[in-house]
Amino acid sequence: MNWFSHNWEITVFVGALAAILTHFIWERFLSERANAKAQQEYGRRLLLREKELAAQSQARLEALFDSMTEGVMLLDTAGRVELYNRSLERMFRLTVGIRGLTLLEAFRLPELVKLGEEVQSAGEVVGFDLELLAENRRYLQANATLVAGAVGARRGALFVFHDITRLRELERTRQEFVANVSHELRTPLSMIKGYTETLLDGAKDEPERATRFLQIIDRHADRLNFLIDDLLAISKLESGQMPLNRQPIDLRTLAGRAIDQFAARAMERSVTLANEVVEGLSADVDADRLDQVFVNLVDNALKYGRAGGRVTVSGRAVAEGMIELAVQDDGPGIPPEAQARVFERFYRVDKARSREQGGTGLGLAIVKHIVQAHGGKAWVRSEPGCGATFLFSLPQLPADDAAH
Ligand code: ADP
Repeated sequence: MNWFSHNWEITVFVGALAAILTHFIWERFLSERANAKAQQEYGRRLLLREKELAAQSQARLEALFDSMTEGVMLLDTAGRVELYNRSLERMFRLTVGIRGLTLLEAFRLPELVKLGEEVQSAGEVVGFDLELLAENRRYLQANATLVAGAVGARRGALFVFHDITRLRELERTRQEFVANVSHELRTPLSMIKGYTETLLDGAKDEPERATRFLQIIDRHADRLNFLIDDLLAISKLESGQMPLNRQPIDLRTLAGRAIDQFAARAMERSVTLANEVVEGLSADVDADRLDQVFVNLVDNALKYGRAGGRVTVSGRAVAEGMIELAVQDDGPGIPPEAQARVFERFYRVDKARSREQGGTGLGLAIVKHIVQAHGGKAWVRSEPGCGATFLFSLPQLPADDAAH
């Protein structure tokens, strides 16, 4: 083997080695670059996913925050509004954003500023009452607590507001109801007591006076009875505990039956009672309850209508499958300002007159509730001096199901 051939072989060998090494290094470089890229991509995706999750959980928190019925507000350590929800916006009727404002700037309510001061000094305030005097008076109850801030610094505060207007109204209605009922019960009771004492003091020995007094006692005992019956009826109706025994009923027949019960009273007052409910009008109703509606309305028409006048019960089908029934008198009627209130419990236009007539003040409230329970509504139309017409609607029964 000569030098030349030896050298050539080495060159080829070194060349091949260099090629293999270059290839190997290149491959390695490519694979590392691909790895780094994949890792970068993976990192990017992870970051994106984390961001997505954070945004989702933020959106969920915001939705939860905004769907709360309580108004919530967070003050930062400088006492400025940092965060608040939609309920708070609604409760305080905010029309502009209040972020960054102080309590006084945001609400202009000295009481709220006082609450802010109280929570800073006490750390927590529970059951703070606020009265808002916008167009409708509303009542809020607030709880406030300090939330952590930097050590030694003033801390932020969280406020939660509950709208307790409805609760307050219910409480007021309940108190008024108890006061009214006590008053209504006391009047006949004190009459019964007074006349009994007079009888015991000697009037019992004078037959004529004794009879008169006993008749008065009897009348007031009846009134107590009516009052208790009406109270029970209204309490059952209002709590929805009066189940309706519905059946297809012919309304002209039902009105006729109610009218018949008043024949003697109508004659006493020389009042003409007329049944003008059209024939063949049927509704799916509880006959006893509906009888009470007619009785209460005809009773009122006779009590408050004109002696020698006319009371008409009428009924006809109106639009959209409804029936309209009415009891009309030609008495003094009801002043416009009282018309919206006559269906309230214990509301009377003329208190003395109603009591003297033995009224409980609950008749029209019972009418309203019974009609509403049947899916209708009750209202009054009256022009003072031209009588009153009490109307109520009921869903009409399709002809196929009508009462025969
Ligand atoms: P009351 O037991 O006092 O009659 P109601 O609830 O039946 O109670 O009626 C409430 C008030 O509405 C009555 O006190 C009376 O002032 C007025 N009212 C009812 N019906 C008539 C009517 N037909 N004409 C005039 N006023 C009426």
